[in-house]
Amino acid sequence: MTTDRIPILDLQKQYQQVGTELEQRIIKVLRSGHYILGDNVRELERSVAALCGCRQAVGCANGTDALILALWALDIGPGDEVVTTPFTFAATAEAIAHRGARAVFVDIDPLTFNIDASLIEAAVTGRTRALLPVHLYGQPAEMERIVQVARHHDLKIIEDNAQAIGALYKGKPTGSFGDAGCISFYPTKNLGACGDAGMVVTSDERVAERLRVLRAHGSRVRYHHDELGVNSRLDELQAVALLTKLTYLADWNEKRRQVARHYNDLLRDIPGLILPAVAGETTPVWHQYTVRVESAASAPGVRRDQLAAGLAARGVDSMCYYPVPLHLQPAFSSLGYKAGDFPVAERVAAEVLSLPMYPELSRGQIERIAQGIRDVLGAGALTPVQTPTAAQAYPLSS
Ligand SMILES: *Cc1c(COP(=O)(O)O)cnc(C)c1O
Repeated sequence: MTTDRIPILDLQKQYQQVGTELEQRIIKVLRSGHYILGDNVRELERSVAALCGCRQAVGCANGTDALILALWALDIGPGDEVVTTPFTFAATAEAIAHRGARAVFVDIDPLTFNIDASLIEAAVTGRTRALLPVHLYGQPAEMERIVQVARHHDLKIIEDNAQAIGALYKGKPTGSFGDAGCISFYPTKNLGACGDAGMVVTSDERVAERLRVLRAHGSRVRYHHDELGVNSRLDELQAVALLTKLTYLADWNEKRRQVARHYNDLLRDIPGLILPAVAGETTPVWHQYTVRVESAASAPGVRRDQLAAGLAARGVDSMCYYPVPLHLQPAFSSLGYKAGDFPVAERVAAEVLSLPMYPELSRGQIERIAQGIRDVLGAGALTPVQTPTAAQAYPLSS
């Protein structure tokens, strides 16, 4: 019997849905002769600002630049400290370092994988200028508490919303709580371009204006440069691709939630397997569905790696985002952290495994993945009880 591999992500499936429309709109841009910061970029900025509940949005070259430009526009630089999470993609802390500021890490919540908001206050010093929470895996961080701490200490908030566009915290979009929300349109994100692209959303007109100047060589009027900037423009081809896909995003995010519910139903009773928690009053967008495979303290990561290998042998891809927390990465060694400083992040990094997650995943595929996990972890076969009680509640395409 041959069964198809289930990849961790399947962008070709997405292309089958949007391809015809996308190709037509891209050809139109190609023929227009207008390639950078044109009507499509402006329309995308308006649409993304509205989606994120912000007054302004400024397109840029990628999500990392969005973070750097946001910190820059808020005047964060040398001598400043920015409190963030050690359990994220490196770009979060890299952006802080590239501004000449210092990333101060705070440990994470073991259930949501996001920064533990109750620990932030203790990390604030006289040099702290900003908090930089990440909505990891598409799950909103605890913004109410983060906003409270920021107000109390007069700190800026920059949200790393690279993985969570469209997510809600208490009914309000992630990215709209702070002074700036930073989005990545990397192709694998929930809303992905056909290359690199990024955006900063803000409701502060002055911050938006500064972002527009900084992304275009510090220039308000062409060939007049008020300050040093960079080239971090967004091009029309990426903008039109994103505009095309944007009309699908709400539907795709809903399908991701259905996939997550389906996984939850099929995996909930497996000893040693911790399913991802959703914090109260949040609507996540499931950029990743990430389980924890508990390991003995003496053998960190062993069971997780066994599960990944067992799934691979059954034709199911999985991925560990992220195997090494940032405070233990050589790139950040100058910050002076050591093993043991953030025990929750360290443990989680040894236990997390992300399963295939995309709107096009079929029920059959989800069941095969779940059965594979049960086989490897010795949890037995799926029983009829474990299949969703109301099939119509999971109207996944097959
Ligand atoms: C993808 C990502 C970024 C960086 O975005 P790029 O567009 O790849 O530069 C930053 N932070 C997080 C959490 C991300 O997932």
